[in-house]
Amino acid sequence: MSGAPEAVPFVDLSTAHAEIRKELDDVWREITSADAYVGGRYVAEFEDAFASYCGTAHCVGVGSGTDALELIFLALGLGRGDEVLVPANTFVATVEAVAAVGARPVFVDVDPHTLLVTAEHLEAAITRATAAAVIVHLYGQMPDMDDIVQVTTRAGIALVEDAAQAHGAEWAKRRAGSFGRAAAFSFYPGKNLGAFGDAGAVVTNDADLAHLTRSIANHGRSEGSRHRHDLIGRNSRLDALQAAVLSVKLRRLDDWNDRRRAAADRYRSLLDGSACRPLHVRPDATAVHHLEVVRVPGRERLLARLDAEGIGWGLHYPVPCHRQSSFARFASERLPVVEASADEIVSLPMFPTITEDQVQQVGEAILAVTKSSRECLSNVMTCP
Ligand SMILES: *Cc1c(COP(=O)(O)O)cnc(C)c1O
Repeated sequence: MSGAPEAVPFVDLSTAHAEIRKELDDVWREITSADAYVGGRYVAEFEDAFASYCGTAHCVGVGSGTDALELIFLALGLGRGDEVLVPANTFVATVEAVAAVGARPVFVDVDPHTLLVTAEHLEAAITRATAAAVIVHLYGQMPDMDDIVQVTTRAGIALVEDAAQAHGAEWAKRRAGSFGRAAAFSFYPGKNLGAFGDAGAVVTNDADLAHLTRSIANHGRSEGSRHRHDLIGRNSRLDALQAAVLSVKLRRLDDWNDRRRAAADRYRSLLDGSACRPLHVRPDATAVHHLEVVRVPGRERLLARLDAEGIGWGLHYPVPCHRQSSFARFASERLPVVEASADEIVSLPMFPTITEDQVQQVGEAILAVTKSSRECLSNVMTCP
């Protein structure tokens, strides 16, 4: 980074951490004197708190969100010959985890208003080889889970939630993570609930699946037995330090999500009627606005303006998974909504401590560009 600090950063975690400075300092002191670094009391306490927050019976802390997905797939026994449905507009980790266990990702298209997967797209893609569907609660909003649960139940396939962007999101007053056979959460620092490094969790109501996941993530050990390895596992565990930080931050999550929602509402009223359209939030969903994504034709002009004003932005995700060279062999699908939206999406600054003034500043920068592009559209002959 160089030059002046950004007028409005894309994400600012330090101002949120400042609100809990003392509790975070206490965590460091406690952990370094308790001599408990991997697993133990702090991990168990966080797992209990997070399971009850999600409304599930079990939580297993693991090394990352990507590991959480892969461990779920391993515990479900997915592998070669299995097809796994997955939306193409997700962070590549969702698809990586499918491929890592040897299963075949089958990409599906999404709803044009929310950019979330739909029951119709899933149903149309189910074959005799389909073993599971991964639902991504993209940008912090859940899709219509009633329809999706109905389709996956009828087809007899496992429903897995990728809830990496959706801590605290709800569908019909039920929290993300409580609908599927299991759900994966990421606690990457920038997520709505973020650790101070990589961390993740699997939540589920299935006791056997929880035990199996914990065992695979801990070298195939059976619970309570240090020297017996009944499975060939791996190492993907949650650190005590991360767990203790997460316990502190979990107590603030609802407040921080409320403040994200207030900022999202402000963006929506500022941009009302402009050519820059925020994504639709369904009335039966409680979104937690991990990312505040708008669609705008002619994205480059907007990005140049934001750069000129020192306003941070992101693209999530400009290259859909089925267009990545690493997944080229699965890329025969045509997915019109995902493909069209990839060229139009822009993620605006969004974090719990963003101020009204900052949102106003971003809104004004957007309106300055989209207004002039509308005038341009109405007088095509004089456009450059
Ligand atoms: C962040 C993220 C992941 C991966 O989580 P990590 O903790 O970074 O491994 C998976 N899926 C989605 C949708 C994500 O946003």
